[in-house]
Amino acid sequence: MLALVLAVVTAVSGLSAVDATAADSDETVRIAVGRFKDAVVIEGLNGPLQVRRGDGSVVGGDRKTARLTLGRTGLFVDGKPLDRDVVTVTGPLLKLAGHSYREALEVRYVTWKGRQEMLVVHPLDLETYVTGIVSSELPRGWPLPAYQAQAVAARTFAVSQKYRRLDLPYHMESSVLDQVYHGVEREHALAEEAARTTRGLVLTWQRHLAQTYFHAACGGTTESALEGWGTGVDYLPGSSCERCMTAGTNRAKWSVKLRRSDVDKAFSKLVGGPLTDIRIAARTATGRVKQLELQSGKKRKLISGADFRRLLGWSVVWSTQIDRITLDKAAVVVDGRGSGHGVGMCQWGAKGYGDDGVPFEEILDRYYPGASLKRLY
Ligand SMILES: [Zn+2]
Repeated sequence: MLALVLAVVTAVSGLSAVDATAADSDETVRIAVGRFKDAVVIEGLNGPLQVRRGDGSVVGGDRKTARLTLGRTGLFVDGKPLDRDVVTVTGPLLKLAGHSYREALEVRYVTWKGRQEMLVVHPLDLETYVTGIVSSELPRGWPLPAYQAQAVAARTFAVSQKYRRLDLPYHMESSVLDQVYHGVEREHALAEEAARTTRGLVLTWQRHLAQTYFHAACGGTTESALEGWGTGVDYLPGSSCERCMTAGTNRAKWSVKLRRSDVDKAFSKLVGGPLTDIRIAARTATGRVKQLELQSGKKRKLISGADFRRLLGWSVVWSTQIDRITLDKAAVVVDGRGSGHGVGMCQWGAKGYGDDGVPFEEILDRYYPGASLKRLY
């Protein structure tokens, strides 16, 4: 299939837009939707479910719920050994850990970081996955062009990850590690329309799939791949974005107040004691914090803006677009703009441009300038 994908991209390269012939796709993706140490409980919604062996044969007939546990010889179902390390649970709709999935969930007995656990993988059609990503990544009530731009970015990312991980039991995580996927229940009609009207479309650069990174809100300018990831990418030079700050996000401008004790806990290992000063030492061309200098007494330590966020929490310090850091006896106040790493498409910016009636092709061109839209199938 990899050869086919490359051949299709090659065959349509040189076309400027959405004009290649569409064919049915048999493209599927495999998403890791959960890891469990004790028990996996899957409930059948809209009908009974079955636990199936690799050859498709059913273990013990229809059931309402499947409870799988770990044993020394592999997986157990309802406390009985299955004598195997992969089974597929099938049914019209399957509920696992608060989310619902269509048709099939594969439960695998795996060793992860030296310990046995059960990995649950959801195989599904790529276009259904794209609908799910658009629904999970973006709020409801946004304009269609923003959903369409997200659909193309998500599809490109998914195909790219798939062919990078063909030898693994799954292609993507269901979290921000890859793309956020929450199953069926978030899906809505406009997300489905966005997937359908962009069906098979991917972004390419010189006959390869583009790296379609995206983030919530850039705060005015997206970051270059060179500054963000350390590797220059022609179509990710950093772009001006006039719309995310006024599109309605509550992360346009933010201020977080952190307790000194929490900040000291995060950094004391690096500087050997409580912080006495913290200073922005260098910024990137787009104004993001590149380096900070931490100080404890006479000891100083430089850390990257990304490490500053990581150590305090990605959901505490929303971006490295930091205007000011203020230190006093009890607290550290961080004032900033935007949310996320800043590379690639700004989702709130796409929303703003979509509100203005800008078509998705132009939105993509703004955030991935020079990348070409091609139809994969
Ligand atoms: Zn933006």
